[in-house]
Amino acid sequence: MTPPQLTILGGGVCGLYAAHHALARGARVVLLEKEERYGGLAAGHLCDGNWFDLGVHMLHAFDREVFETCREAMGGERLEVPLKSHIKWGGKLYHYPLRGRDILAGIPPLTLARCLGGLALAELESRFPSRPPGADAESALIELYGEPLYEFFFEDFTHRYWGLHPRELSAEFVRRKMPRLSALDVFKNLLEKLHLARPRDATEGALRFETLHYSRTGSEALPRKLAESARAQGAELRSAQPVERIHHQHGRIQAVETAQGQLPVDNVLSTLPLPELVKKLSPAAPEAVRAAAARLRFKPMTVYALLLKKDRCMDALYTYYRDRIFHRVGEPKNAGLEVTPAGHTTLIVETTCEVGDRKWTGEALPDILADLAAEGLCTAEEVVSQRLIHARHAYPVFALGFEKHLAVVTDYLAGFANLRSTGRQGAFTYPNMHTAMRMGAEAAHELLS
Ligand SMILES: Cc1cc2nc3c(=O)[nH]c(=O)nc-3n(C[C@H](O)[C@H](O)[C@H](O)COP(=O)(O)OP(=O)(O)OC[C@H]3O[C@@H](n4cnc5c(N)ncnc54)[C@H](O)[C@@H]3O)c2cc1C
Repeated sequence: MTPPQLTILGGGVCGLYAAHHALARGARVVLLEKEERYGGLAAGHLCDGNWFDLGVHMLHAFDREVFETCREAMGGERLEVPLKSHIKWGGKLYHYPLRGRDILAGIPPLTLARCLGGLALAELESRFPSRPPGADAESALIELYGEPLYEFFFEDFTHRYWGLHPRELSAEFVRRKMPRLSALDVFKNLLEKLHLARPRDATEGALRFETLHYSRTGSEALPRKLAESARAQGAELRSAQPVERIHHQHGRIQAVETAQGQLPVDNVLSTLPLPELVKKLSPAAPEAVRAAAARLRFKPMTVYALLLKKDRCMDALYTYYRDRIFHRVGEPKNAGLEVTPAGHTTLIVETTCEVGDRKWTGEALPDILADLAAEGLCTAEEVVSQRLIHARHAYPVFALGFEKHLAVVTDYLAGFANLRSTGRQGAFTYPNMHTAMRMGAEAAHELLS
């Protein structure tokens, strides 16, 4: 019997893991990736002999099956890194996840009491709701964290990050992206850290300490090794081959077209950004579907990748900032990244932006350097080289009302029996790498069943 065939569009971690899953089921796999390098958002960027990630990218081990595949593929290149990150708030650095003694020592008692009280009220309200859930992110953030924490932190931070006030974002953004933080958990965490309670097992959440997985070349090792091992198992992986058209007939995808020609397909797993997938369909999707797809927006990101003549800048893997032009700065050397020459380090400075604005073009560099200096991280004189790394599709924007546009698109695509659109871009959602990989495996499973 001829083995089933799966064509995967996009070689990010979702597509690569889907390839592994399909190979394990005996399928023939062809994967088409637009870029030279595999990995998508998790790909590495080589600059003057040093690797830079698009924002420090580390693997979580929450999904044991996914983790085991990654562990095997990475072999000796995998590094275990204890999570150590900070958040700067109100002029002070706090550990993130929160530490009991920081909470006690750092936050003024009245503020702490208001925040905990607000959290407890929000929790009570969630158990015994007195009104229907709100539609926008402001109401959802207040429902989740209480009004004091919303006012102290989330309102301003969310606004700066997205360029949209929480009232303009959908409540769905909060439900999918923001971890639930209960007053009880904060209290239990406090007791654990003061050694007054037994530590709990690692689970996904806002307060968990955990071991992350990385490499001496940064995030690039994981997709590179997944690609190598898929190829060794017989997958046909083609990089630098952007998909240009997707031909369909009678409710089935028939062929995928690249500059090299048309490739007939049995089953297609697409991890392309949803609006791109719709645009590539031939014959074209109905006008209403194209219009709905065009309203699904992504927030772009520019990373300022800096090589510095300095041994260390911070003692955490990364720090979040609320009041700066950047929202997060990572120093991957603290996670084991090899930096050359000796005595140098690199910083990954993350800024959300719009395509073509000052942050995107690099004109914002003087402001970035001024804010880095103000934070005591480095001076302009210490910068040896800098490079911009762009991502047009960094974050799906859950603008108010996006759900109805998404439903129009997904309902239409569900009409193609041999197509699944998945992963971060293809499902228009916010997974971490392990969740994106799980999504890839599930979509491959459905197509091959
Ligand atoms: C700043 C930032 C930091 C993050 N940090 C972490 C972290 O520390 N840990 C973690 O677990 N997750 C992290 N994530 C999330 C993680 O990066 C993503 O969820 C995951 O990489 C998504 O993988 P994917 O394969 O679904 O999508 P993508 O990585 O976007 O892959 C899609 C692929 O499709 C390709 N493609 C697009 N168009 C075409 C075309 N026409 N033809 C062929 N190929 C095409 C793209 O080039 C890309 O390779 C972070 C995300 C961001 C933005």
